[in-house]
This record gives sequence, structure tokens and C-alpha cells, in this order.
Amino acid sequence: MVVVKIVTQVKLMPDAEQAAALSATLRAVNALACWVSEVAFTHGMPREYELRKHTYSRLKAEGLGAQAAQHTIKKVRDAYTTLRANIRAGNLGTPKSKRRRKAESKPITFRPNAAQPYDDRCLSWQHDQQTVSIWTTDGRLKGVRFVCSAHALKVLQQYRKGESDLIERDGVFYLIATCEVPEAETYEPDGFIGVDLGIVNIATTSTGYQAAGRALNRYRKRQLALRAKLQKKRTKSARRRLKERSRRETRHVKNTNHSIAKTIVTEAERTSAGISLEELKGIRQRVRLRKPQRVALHSWAFAQLGEFIVYKAKRAGVPLVFVDPAYTSQTCAECGHVDKRNRVDQQLFICRGCGVVVHADRNASHNIATRGESVWNAGRESRVPATR
Ligand SMILES: [Zn+2]
Repeated sequence: MVVVKIVTQVKLMPDAEQAAALSATLRAVNALACWVSEVAFTHGMPREYELRKHTYSRLKAEGLGAQAAQHTIKKVRDAYTTLRANIRAGNLGTPKSKRRRKAESKPITFRPNAAQPYDDRCLSWQHDQQTVSIWTTDGRLKGVRFVCSAHALKVLQQYRKGESDLIERDGVFYLIATCEVPEAETYEPDGFIGVDLGIVNIATTSTGYQAAGRALNRYRKRQLALRAKLQKKRTKSARRRLKERSRRETRHVKNTNHSIAKTIVTEAERTSAGISLEELKGIRQRVRLRKPQRVALHSWAFAQLGEFIVYKAKRAGVPLVFVDPAYTSQTCAECGHVDKRNRVDQQLFICRGCGVVVHADRNASHNIATRGESVWNAGRESRVPATR
């Protein structure tokens, strides 16, 4: 069975004593992870079992159980593997660059509240009571309450699998659980819904739906103004409020994206249509190419919307294709005439060939739908060989 991997976050509601134990645990495992990292560094990043030989007994002696000790070693190994992959991919620059030399010259360190992985032996979930039982350096905590949305609870109950991460942000503890949600079988689409993504109108579909970016952009503008005000005050509380603001904004964008994606995917499912999206890489590039719009949404917001549509479509079995967005805003969806001047302004499209007048984003969404259909048909021809 094909599955989509997603993460689900729940907020823990420990009492004061439980909170102290969780906090002490994160601090202890991360201090020890720093020590393991030093050992790994001085031994030239040995393999996991060698590293275990050098560190396991001390970790046990320091009060970590067998699982926690192994998870701590693995966490360190994974951090070095990631660093190495980043270096290989050139993400830290050339061998002589300052960033790369800095990264290579000393052991990786872990913040006192860095994430710690938990497997099913150190963490169990009681969904009906909405509690977890979790290992800490002060022994096992039972009945730690957690909160999340009803939907998240259902997903957790049905599909949670493997490890979860315990993290702490500003004194609040969260568990981030991995869920493996099965993909539905894809149906044969009856036409395609084209989705045009943009800053002014976040999403416009060829079937008439339009999600205006006005509310989100206005929200962002207000947030930026408040942020500028807070940034002037260099106090600790201002910094904390700043962080909280940017998190709130991230959440707000996420909720909006979820609801837009849901609307589009639900419509496709209802009408047995497929969805045609611009290549995600294209979205990022295109958004970046526009002149700087400080107020406008970040490109990650579009990438996230694309990801949500992909995920929800897969879950619902809605066929999905990606198309090259080149010239979709200059081509007339009616007659196919291509001219840069067809697009009069942000909103208006007037074809120089056939004279049609239409909303610019709507026109683009029709082009994306048409392209999606031909991509799908081309794919079908290669999937199903002609019979004689
Ligand atoms: Zn035309």
C-alpha cells in the first residue's frame, strides 16, 4: 500500500511536577548528546556501533535507559550524516568558505531543549483519555494530558507509526508524531481543474473558485508593522513577543492554506475531475522573480499550499498533474494567441487575437487546466500500450 507520510503535533499539558521532569530530561539528554558528539568528533565520526562502544555504558550510568541511550547516539549520528550530506551538496560553500570551515572545525552541539526522539517503548498513547505515558530521567510519567484538534486525534489514532519527537518551545512541550496515511486509488478523471497561484489572488481555479490574497496580505502587513515596533525595543520580552507573533502568522497562513487546498480537492473529488498544478519549483521561481514585495506572502507559503493540495489529492485519490507554467499568463485560453501585451495589467486580460476580455488569473487557470489534460493523456498513452 502506498502511504503519505505526515507529521502531527500535539501540545502536552503536564502539571508542574511533570513539566519539571520533562524539562530536566531534555536538558540531560541534550547535554549527553553534546558529549557523544565530542566523542564522535575526536574519533573521526565512527560508525554507529563503534560510537555505541565508546559511549553506551556512560550514558546508561548517567541514568538513560537502554532506549534513550540508543536514541541519543542515533541522534548524534544522524546530525553528522546530515552535516556531511549538506557539505557534499555544497550547502555550506566551498572547502575554504568560512561557514564550512566553522562547521567542520568543531563538534556539533545540541541546544538544551533540542528535539529528542521517542519510540513505542519509551512513549505510549492513550487516545481515549488523551494522555501519554512517557519515559523521563525521573522515571516514567503516566497520564500526561495532551491536546490537539479532533481531526489530528483521529489521524493519530489510526495512522501513527514509528518515532515521535519531544520538543520544548518557550516552556511549552509538544510531541511531533509521524503518521503514515494510506493513499486512495486514483480514479480516471473527467476533465481537469487548473489552479493558478499568485500573490494578489492566492489561488484561482478554472471552475470559478478564487481565494483572494487580500486578507492574508493585509494580515501580514499588520504583523510587519507590529514587528517593526517591537524590533525597536530590544528588551527580552519584546523578543519573546516577536517570536510569538511570527509563529502566530505561520499558523494563520497554514490554516488558510489548509482550507484553500481542501476547497479545491473537495471540488475535484465531487466532480470526478483531476487537478492541474504549476510545477512547484516554478511557483518559487516565479514569486521570486517579481519585484520585491515586502508585504506580500513569502514563497514558502505557496510551496506549502502546493504541498497541501498534493497531500489531500493523494489521500482522496484525485489525479494530479504538474505542468510547466511558462506563458500561461500571456496565452489566450480561447484562441491560443500568445502575446505579452495580452495581459493588460494585474487583473485584466484582453486578447490581441480574438478580443476576448477576461480576468487574467482565470485565463491562466484555464491554460493550466488544458495543459494538465494533455499531460495526463500523454501519460496515459505511455501507460497503456496500444493493442492491435
Ligand atoms: Zn484569443
